[in-house]
Amino acid sequence: MTAKAPTVGVVSLGCPKALVDSERIITRLRSEGYQLSGSYEGADLVVVNTCGFLDSAKAESLDAIGEAIAENGKVIVTGCLGKEENLIRDAHPKVLEITGPHQYEAVVGAVHTHLPQVHDPKIDLVPEGGFRLTPRHYAYLKISEGCNNRCTFCIIPSIRGDLVSRPANAVLKEAESLVKAGVKELLVISQDTSAYGVDVKYAESKWKDRMVRAKFYDLCKELGDLGAWVRLHYVYPYPHVDEVVGLMAEGKILPYLDIPFQHASPNVLKAMRRPANQDKVLDRIKKWRQICPDLTIRSSFIVGFPGETEDDFETLLDFIEEAEIDRAGVFKYENVDGAPSRDLPGHVDQDDVDERYDRFMEVQTALAHQRLQSMIGKTVDAICDGWDEDAEAYAFRTKADAPEIDGVTYVDRDDEIAEGTIAKLEILGGEGHEMVGALVEE
Ligand code: SF4
Repeated sequence: MTAKAPTVGVVSLGCPKALVDSERIITRLRSEGYQLSGSYEGADLVVVNTCGFLDSAKAESLDAIGEAIAENGKVIVTGCLGKEENLIRDAHPKVLEITGPHQYEAVVGAVHTHLPQVHDPKIDLVPEGGFRLTPRHYAYLKISEGCNNRCTFCIIPSIRGDLVSRPANAVLKEAESLVKAGVKELLVISQDTSAYGVDVKYAESKWKDRMVRAKFYDLCKELGDLGAWVRLHYVYPYPHVDEVVGLMAEGKILPYLDIPFQHASPNVLKAMRRPANQDKVLDRIKKWRQICPDLTIRSSFIVGFPGETEDDFETLLDFIEEAEIDRAGVFKYENVDGAPSRDLPGHVDQDDVDERYDRFMEVQTALAHQRLQSMIGKTVDAICDGWDEDAEAYAFRTKADAPEIDGVTYVDRDDEIAEGTIAKLEILGGEGHEMVGALVEE
């Protein structure tokens, strides 16, 4: 039997922009299987989209909220008056949640919290975990869009705009659905993961029986309780990352940080206009390794940035050795249309760029070799990515290896091993970024 679809009423006040917001909210809810009701009695919950332009409009909005509470009882408020949360709460303490204008996702997230969707496989075309282009056992989890930084080589902020963080409960709901749908590893992504929530002043949202802040640490802690591996990408070395490394030491999230340092020389970092205080980065990394000795750091770097001198480049090489960067991707600087770095003085001769790239690779290869040697004989947890036709072996990844970008451990085995199986492997040997391992029988 099909469960009754949850039904929402929408009261829309204010200008055409508010009306468009209401349409978007309704479109999204309908696409998720919610029904609409034109009456208070027929709705399980009412969304009131308010106007706060003039005092008379505020009064009208407050009246509409009062009426919805009296007639229905379950009310979520959004729209322009949502900016004046205290005013609404003082007048109507029973309001379930309040969001501001254009916060479609927050409104929809609030509806999910107070009136959960009913997944019906007979009518829903979208599977519970959504459509994904990744294998069943891992999934990317986007926590925000855009970026508040203005790195001179990058045009992302001009394309995607400033940081817009998703509400914590929306992220957690998606993560939970993915885990229920069989995902064993969540890859947290954004443009600047550690800045999560800055734009919404770390706003709280209701998740299960508690309020969760849209804050890097709080989100990681909650994600760590979902029972999947959680891997963090695009983190910046801000001081508050220290406490997240504590979660790694506790085994809540994977001891892995993908930090795009891009360079280490203060001159180049200044020209790149990179965030974070680089003077403190080495100390910070050392501290992280004390807190969590198993930590793997992946990074990416640019060589040949305008103004990079031989001294700057050597500073970079020293840095990757001293910081023991475990995995590094290196790119040769290229002029990107629209990027301010095009206009910087001191563009580096292409031969020098190529030569620096080769030297970087040499140092990086030696570091990778050392790291691989230190793994031999160890027993580690690894996740199976399935059968690899070329290698004629099962491909696994350890906690130190992200899919697509890091290394693989091959296991030769006749019995079938399902994708997403997490097993203990003994590392037997390897070369470059590929290791060979054997399943350790329990
Ligand atoms: S490189 Fe990253 S941090 Fe810098 S502006 Fe681009 S997206 Fe933001």
